[in-house]
Amino acid sequence: MAAMNNLWLIKVGEISLKKGNRAFFERVLKENIRKKLRLVAPEGSGSQISNRGGRFYLDTSLPEDLIRPILASTPGIVAFSRALKVKKDLDSLTEASIEVAKRCLAGNSGNRFKFEVRRTDKGLPLDSYGYARELGARLLEALPELVVDVRKPDFIIKLELREWGYVYEQDISGPGGLPVGTAGRGMLLLSGGIDSPVAGYLMAKRGITLSAVHFHTPPFTSPEALDKVIRLAESLAPWCGGITLANVSFTDCQVKINESVDPASTTLHSRATMMKIAQRIAAKRRCGALVTGESLGQVASQTLESLAYTNGSVHLPVFRPLIGLDKEQIIRISRDIGTYETAIEPFDDCCTLFSPTHPLTRPDTKEMKEAFTAIDGLEALIEEAAEKAEIIRIDGIGQRIEG
Ligand code: ATP
Ligand code: MG
Repeated sequence: MAAMNNLWLIKVGEISLKKGNRAFFERVLKENIRKKLRLVAPEGSGSQISNRGGRFYLDTSLPEDLIRPILASTPGIVAFSRALKVKKDLDSLTEASIEVAKRCLAGNSGNRFKFEVRRTDKGLPLDSYGYARELGARLLEALPELVVDVRKPDFIIKLELREWGYVYEQDISGPGGLPVGTAGRGMLLLSGGIDSPVAGYLMAKRGITLSAVHFHTPPFTSPEALDKVIRLAESLAPWCGGITLANVSFTDCQVKINESVDPASTTLHSRATMMKIAQRIAAKRRCGALVTGESLGQVASQTLESLAYTNGSVHLPVFRPLIGLDKEQIIRISRDIGTYETAIEPFDDCCTLFSPTHPLTRPDTKEMKEAFTAIDGLEALIEEAAEKAEIIRIDGIGQRIEG
């Protein structure tokens, strides 16, 4: 087949329900795709994105293996499919249909198919039905294992006859949700675990632009543990269109807490301290919310009483998208988004190292607050830790931006 641009059809979900500000959501989605295209090819190599009738079309000469991961990881996109763009003569249309049918057959979806034809070019020799019949016959001749079934087909070959002929391949899923950049900014507390990257992903899918903060405790935590978190942020970055990671040394705070309070309450005071530091950095980065990977009842620091205490240590809203999910569900999402394998690498973060053997599960918020306020010098350490954060920037295809 002659070398030609591919056309990608992009379907959106929730965006199409928006009324007055739908154009805003559409514009942000287009810009998010363009930004990623520019990262894989200079100026996006002349790719064009247009939208009409609630659908988006990407016309590009860039190869499929560059386009697929971009569309599959961009929130707002529910599904997409590639169309082969060919001349409108029967031979070209047949050739394209055979290629699409072969892919569908290889995808194991069964051998029963039908054609769906939309013809907006009224100057053509056949009507829609005529094209479906003629191409169907030619397809059966070329691939005898196919069976026509207009009632319950295993796959549908869609053909559009406009200025060109377009033969569509099967749908590929996108993340769904809303385009990043339509819902404000959030500060993700990113540990080295399974949960927090998933929490970040879920909020990005609601349109939140993410920054992240990680607390490490050198020399008690290793450089490998920090490197692991950076790699987690890199895996997360495509889903959120890039991410900025602030690495905060938590050692002075941790030591101060451990020498000042009852051992059973150290984890909760550490958590409250992290939230306060995160809130300071959030203010600098204009974030209106904190995001954590907490899930109700998962560990001692995530009981209702524990969450009530840590929540009360900050004034920003805290989003906990995993609150009602169980571990199996979280792990499934983590595998889907590609953060699982990194998250289970065995480098300890500060929490596991400093965890008390018998942590409080039902803290009294008032007593806890008093104990926290009594930790002499902690406020100054919080300020200093936030001030000294090291910033790492990662772009929308997961690459470190140097400098
Ligand atoms: P995760 O799998 O995300 O580590 P977890 O189940 O291990 O979560 P905790 O260790 O209690 O739970 O942490 C709860 C949440 O607090 C995390 O999801 C994360 O948002 C935040 N958090 C914990 N430790 C850190 C850290 N070292 N740096 C940044 N955020 C942290
Ligand atoms: Mg953890």
